[in-house]
Amino acid sequence: MKTIQMVDLKSQYQKLKTEIDKAVIDVLESSAFINGKPVHDLAADLSAYLGVKHVIPCANGTDALQIALMALDLKPGDEVITPSFTFIATTEVVALLQLKPVFVDVDRETFCIDPEGIRKAITPKTKAIVPVHLYGHAANMEEIMKIAAEYNLPVIEDNAQAIGCEVKFSDGTIKKTGSIGDIGTTSFFPSKNLGGYGDGGAIFTNNDTLADKLKMIANHGQSRRYYHDIVGCNSRLDTIQAAILKIKLRELDNYIQARNKAAGYYTKAFAGVPGITTPSLASYSNHVYHQYTLVLEGIDRNGLNQYLAEKHIPSMIYYPVPGHKQKMFDAFGLPQYELSVTDWLTERVLSLPMHTELDTEQLDFITSSVTEYINKN
Ligand SMILES: *Cc1c(COP(=O)(O)O)cnc(C)c1O
Repeated sequence: MKTIQMVDLKSQYQKLKTEIDKAVIDVLESSAFINGKPVHDLAADLSAYLGVKHVIPCANGTDALQIALMALDLKPGDEVITPSFTFIATTEVVALLQLKPVFVDVDRETFCIDPEGIRKAITPKTKAIVPVHLYGHAANMEEIMKIAAEYNLPVIEDNAQAIGCEVKFSDGTIKKTGSIGDIGTTSFFPSKNLGGYGDGGAIFTNNDTLADKLKMIANHGQSRRYYHDIVGCNSRLDTIQAAILKIKLRELDNYIQARNKAAGYYTKAFAGVPGITTPSLASYSNHVYHQYTLVLEGIDRNGLNQYLAEKHIPSMIYYPVPGHKQKMFDAFGLPQYELSVTDWLTERVLSLPMHTELDTEQLDFITSSVTEYINKN
């Protein structure tokens, strides 16, 4: 059996090796390492894939979020509503810009921000909402956009884990995550569903004014070379990464299918196993399974993690400390949060290996090892 990994980038690369190697060598030979043609081609391909007007490539998913927030002209102390149950980048950039993160609980079924929680957290100082499509499942964008319209608040979708995910609205419209809010952001970190071979990220918007501003911010605040109108930063996707991502974008739907197949195998094998809740799907979203995350009740999570590790099966806790309990925010004088679902999930989630290259032998070994542990304990 092939070694089981959380993410198997090497096997995935082998299948595209000839094409990717050539694309990288072409960049080396062109010497257009910064802003080369593949960067523009990738932006155009992504724009068509997502159905979004503007794609602004940048250096990573954290920068994408930071640049998105910078484009909103917020003032220190302005409040930004985000889930606590997410990767730190989502909330770190809020703090970095001297804004105040306001943590909201998540929905127990989807792991994504609870729209009613957003409504309750809105104050006159609220200036933005940042939902996260966690683990590859969409947040309830129809409800979130309704609330945002009601209070005239911009929405930034953190789509780092869900590129390709589709949201169905009650009028039947289908939109891809990242193209629904005022701005969407993503990451091309190697282990993401659309991952490069280094760092990378992108920002999406349908708004022309915002697009100009986002481009300027990502490029030292200039619209014309050496004339810097606003404070920006330097955040670029390099040409080699773009050339690789352009090839991998063509495979993204196949990758999503492969992830769904693996997820289907897991879900079937765990059906009826006491104490295990498998990921659920809201009626409005499909799933791109960036992670396959179990909720364990009455099962010793560390025990299971150890038992699997002894069999060389990795499993991970995403994330062991929620945002509202991170020391990083101590200086922000945040209130004592009561986020019961977030705290409850934090104690019980366990993610199993999930990638495009899992085969039946591996899946069978993983699922039988998990059930073996539960039957023994
Ligand atoms: C990975 C990730 C990011 C950050 O992306 P980087 O490219 O690593 O900076 C932001 N938000 C979420 C939810 C992520 O999973």
